[in-house]
Amino acid sequence: MHFSERLDRLTSSLIRELLALTQQPDMISFAGGLPAARAMPPLGLAGVPETLRQYGTTDGEPELRATIARYLTGLGRSCTAEQVLITSGSQQGLDLVSKLFIDPGTTVAVEAPSYLAALQAFRFFGAEFLELPLGAGGLDPQQLRDAIRQRRPAFLYLIPTFQNPSGLCYDEATRAAVAEVLSESGVPLLEDEPYRELVYEPCDRTPICTRLADGAPWMVMGSFSKTGIPGLRIGYIAASSDIHPHLVRIKQCTDLHTNRIGQWWANQFMQSAGYLDHLDRLRDYYRAQRDAMQAGLQRYLADLATWQRPHGGLFFWITLNEAVDERELLQEVLARKVAFMPGGAFYATPPARQGRMRLNFSHSTPEQVDRGLRVLGDTVREHLGR
Ligand code: PMP
Repeated sequence: MHFSERLDRLTSSLIRELLALTQQPDMISFAGGLPAARAMPPLGLAGVPETLRQYGTTDGEPELRATIARYLTGLGRSCTAEQVLITSGSQQGLDLVSKLFIDPGTTVAVEAPSYLAALQAFRFFGAEFLELPLGAGGLDPQQLRDAIRQRRPAFLYLIPTFQNPSGLCYDEATRAAVAEVLSESGVPLLEDEPYRELVYEPCDRTPICTRLADGAPWMVMGSFSKTGIPGLRIGYIAASSDIHPHLVRIKQCTDLHTNRIGQWWANQFMQSAGYLDHLDRLRDYYRAQRDAMQAGLQRYLADLATWQRPHGGLFFWITLNEAVDERELLQEVLARKVAFMPGGAFYATPPARQGRMRLNFSHSTPEQVDRGLRVLGDTVREHLGR
């Protein structure tokens, strides 16, 4: 049999392997990024119109596209329903963008660290990476400017709001400065915003795409997975008019269109009277989860690691004081039925510095968080021979 050369670029996914392990009932998993099922809205499919049994259009259901265009316009990214493409989760947006921009050897600029499955999608099509390290306020705009001059990327992929994995939210000055560099250079922006509504503390969340000069190419992705129901697989990508039609043609040969029932659900959900109350409840729930993890970290890892308490999203990003081998530590802690994501998995090229972990706080109960962090702290101490 002959398989495509592309297949060789699919390295085994640590996430997939870890998630299989974490299905064990007695495992406390901080590894995945699963939203809490108990915080999800009900499915409530009564009332789905029978007309939705038929095929739909590639762009998506007009009502949902209009709702999303209004939402984005409200955030300051003026756009029409015609610029919105509904996708099967925002993960499909990453696939479509890869198919549009990436040939083997194409440079893509990414944050270091960045979302593992985005790096995998880009790599699958042959991307080479220009990695931009994250500082306290986001990436360094001057470094971005210099990097673009030296090695122009096909696009810049950013998760500026409650980044996966770092939890970071770019500050206002960095957002403005990044937009300026992109406006000057004309490098397209791919802004990935699945966590923007999971906000627990006031902070600037103005999408970077709203600050671009007229004519600068942009794409922004959103998702119903974190606020709604991930199993429905509904996301979207809105893009400037020079990009959008290409994404639609690519989507057409990928899957014709996204499932119509989920699109109907997503539109009802966003339009419902209870939507804003649901978001408030979700934020309260996750804020308490975050606080439980912050308390546990202070209790069990304060002398071993540093971290920033995230203002939103689903993750803590932990740097151990000593650069321990993350994978060894993972094996030791897995044997005690606790799982975390090793930080190295989130870099396009393995980082020199070991000893980082991503910890998810949405999935476990506060009791599990406490127990899991106690085990993690004990395991790190034993690993260090203390
Ligand atoms: N982008 C980022 C940064 C994510 O963290 C995720 C989910 N973990 C996705 C995209 C994909 O989300 P979905 O396909 O469920 O919308």
